[in-house]
Amino acid sequence: MSEWKGVCEAISRATGQPAVPAGADSLGGGCINQAFRLSVTDGRSWFVKVNDAASLAMFEAESAGLLELASANAIRVPQPVCCGSVGQIAYLVMEYIPLGRGGDAGELGRCLAVMHRRTAETFGWETDNTIGSTPQINTPDSDWVRFWRERRLGFQLRLAANRGYGGSLQKKGARLMERFPALFDTHTPEPSLLHGDLWGGNWSTDARGDPVIFDPAVYYGDREADLAMTELFGGFGEKFYRAYRADLPLDPGYSLRKTFYNIYHILNHLNLFGGGYGAQAEGMIDRVLAEL
Ligand code: ADP
Repeated sequence: MSEWKGVCEAISRATGQPAVPAGADSLGGGCINQAFRLSVTDGRSWFVKVNDAASLAMFEAESAGLLELASANAIRVPQPVCCGSVGQIAYLVMEYIPLGRGGDAGELGRCLAVMHRRTAETFGWETDNTIGSTPQINTPDSDWVRFWRERRLGFQLRLAANRGYGGSLQKKGARLMERFPALFDTHTPEPSLLHGDLWGGNWSTDARGDPVIFDPAVYYGDREADLAMTELFGGFGEKFYRAYRADLPLDPGYSLRKTFYNIYHILNHLNLFGGGYGAQAEGMIDRVLAEL
């Protein structure tokens, strides 16, 4: 890629050390961006995400999110180095961490509880970001129910309507928007620091076996929303949940709110990928409504 020279110039500025490109290996696994391991002639290397130039704001928000997670000192995250645009592309450069194959999920559970203890004054965050490639609006709000209604559930339902997913999905969605506040009659969440997109593909371990999380969609919100996402595509295993609950127990209403929170992600999948996610979202809405 002809742009590597420009990326390396930005790395030189950010690190204060000259960086001359030696090679870039394409890495698989990313859902949204192209990922590379970029090496320079003195042997150092970085993890670089690349997308079209319009993606710069997304990379800036991801970089800020990584810094926010790092500031909690709870779980290792790749340290961002710089982001910018060169020619037709935008890029985000971060520390390259050789990732292991599966690690101690119990340790991740313990560390996630520590991270969730980090709280803010209000729900949301200082920066909007993306969930997948969908905008995620984080305008702060002191009221969690209103935040979720307007910036999460309502936002994805409106997006779905604009994409032509109307009919029963929107009818059920409207009923859920009306009734879901009852889920919070006896549950008063605090604004906890959340990863925001914590599925199994967004954590791993480093060479020492310590957990690493990446690709976040950071905001401050109910910690149950992070846990719910861990359960959406298969779960993180019993050791993870036992370790987490040993430090931060969960309210009994979590099992219903888990389904409720994950409707956001399934609607997002519908909006990104279409297909069977509409039926899945409707099924989840039915299950929650049946309990309200
Ligand atoms: P995308 O934004 O396209 O979804 P990810 O952030 O998920 O990309 O990264 C793609 C893959 O690259 C991950 O699944 C992970 O295996 C690997 N990866 C992510 N961050 C790093 C890093 N800092 N160092 C090394 N490998 C990484």
